[in-house]
Amino acid sequence: MMKYEVAVVGGGVAGLTAAIYAAKAGKRTIVIEKQDRLGGRAVSNKKKGAYFNLGGHALYHGDALATFRELGLRLQGNQPSIDGYGIWKGKLLTMPMGIKSLLATPLLTWKGKMELASWLVKLGKLDTHRYDQISLRDWIEGHLHDPMVRNLFYALLRTASYVAAPDMQAAGPVLQQLQHSLQGVLYLDRGWGAVIDELREMAAEHGVKMLTSSKVVAIEHRDGAVQHVRCEDDTRVEAKHIVITAPPAVAHRLVPNAESTALHAWREQAIEITAACLDVALRRLPRPKQQFVYGIDQTVFLSNQSRAAYLSDDGAQVISVIKYQGEDTNPDTDLRDLEQTLDLVQPGWRDELVAKQYLPRITVCHDFLHMGRQHQPGPAVPEIAGLYVAGEWASHGELLVDAATASAKRAVQYLLSREETEGKPQYAHRDIV
Ligand SMILES: Cc1cc2nc3c(=O)[nH]c(=O)nc-3n(C[C@H](O)[C@H](O)[C@H](O)COP(=O)(O)OP(=O)(O)OC[C@H]3O[C@@H](n4cnc5c(N)ncnc54)[C@H](O)[C@@H]3O)c2cc1C
Repeated sequence: MMKYEVAVVGGGVAGLTAAIYAAKAGKRTIVIEKQDRLGGRAVSNKKKGAYFNLGGHALYHGDALATFRELGLRLQGNQPSIDGYGIWKGKLLTMPMGIKSLLATPLLTWKGKMELASWLVKLGKLDTHRYDQISLRDWIEGHLHDPMVRNLFYALLRTASYVAAPDMQAAGPVLQQLQHSLQGVLYLDRGWGAVIDELREMAAEHGVKMLTSSKVVAIEHRDGAVQHVRCEDDTRVEAKHIVITAPPAVAHRLVPNAESTALHAWREQAIEITAACLDVALRRLPRPKQQFVYGIDQTVFLSNQSRAAYLSDDGAQVISVIKYQGEDTNPDTDLRDLEQTLDLVQPGWRDELVAKQYLPRITVCHDFLHMGRQHQPGPAVPEIAGLYVAGEWASHGELLVDAATASAKRAVQYLLSREETEGKPQYAHRDIV
């Protein structure tokens, strides 16, 4: 039996962030990861000299960027230009993202251009939290008049959040994400795996023990307090505080009698979002001007990430194409749609192909702020002292990796505050949305 003060289950961004903050606060900390490498969905794979993230990844001006900067990560990479195209009725047309493109685009009438221009000006100052309780569709239909301006907002907001479910998605968080994206995003040199490398090094510097290839199969608790983590190979780690960063269904499975804890409601309310992702490395771009494309009447998106980041050792261009999925998905149809998008944007791309990666259905998030949500997950599981949750699904309104870092810090802050108030009566707190 190993003994730690804090045990973190899962070594993705959330797990590594939680471990670093706990270790920085002086806690003896361990991360237990089932895969043979750390990083979770933020790993990068290197194929024939090209770095592929698990689907296109952009770092927004949100909690993760602020956290990584606070931790002193180098974060090498650049901000891509947002000039691009929209796919409408099978054609590529200028996407109105600034004054010049707004004037040039054939997508909008003059009236539509005026409406979009006024929104681009006022969007930055919008108090987005006012719209946390209404669906994205209600916000768009209630605030925007021109049908094409509405279509453009659906496309931009889908891309910013990866969610193609405007009736379910709460408007506030995704509008905030759009605000962040208008400040520009960061594409990272050598992919997001470079961030994981930096987080791993930092965790090691702070003395965090990292156990890989160790699948946690149970989190034992007794008399309302956590006891230890049990792994598949029967390794046991005793810890006063256990932070689970695995998905809600896994968290539920790991904890005996989870039905009588908040883990049950969190699992029941969770809505998973998936995407099909095709990443290709091309020797050269057949159409060098066409590097950034939003689907307007299709739920696809394409970006040449190499236009802002070092993603290949021999100059190949790494392009990510994404299809945002709903409940019904078909890997063959999705692959066809992704390849057709490439055919439209970079005709002849097959002749330039160096390497490719196809992920037919990858989970982008295990939950997010949606209209059916009753409870904000975490940071503490109120019924079991010493048990916490983090991970992008434990979002309190943040999106994607911002939710991973924000929830990780919430869990650590909560466990540290528990230690401070030890011996005093505890009133676990759970926000109702
Ligand atoms: C296609 C795609 C595109 C994305 N694009 C963006 C983007 O542009 N911008 C953005 O901000 N975010 C993006 N994201 C989201 C971002 O990658 C995730 O939010 C983030 O990586 C999640 O980190 P996490 O630690 O919460 O979860 P994970 O990375 O899933 O980490 C959880 C870890 O727990 C481990 N685990 C699970 N069960 C066990 C167990 N029983 N025992 C031990 N370990 C276990 C898993 O192996 C995993 O390593 C994207 C994600 C995808 C898939």
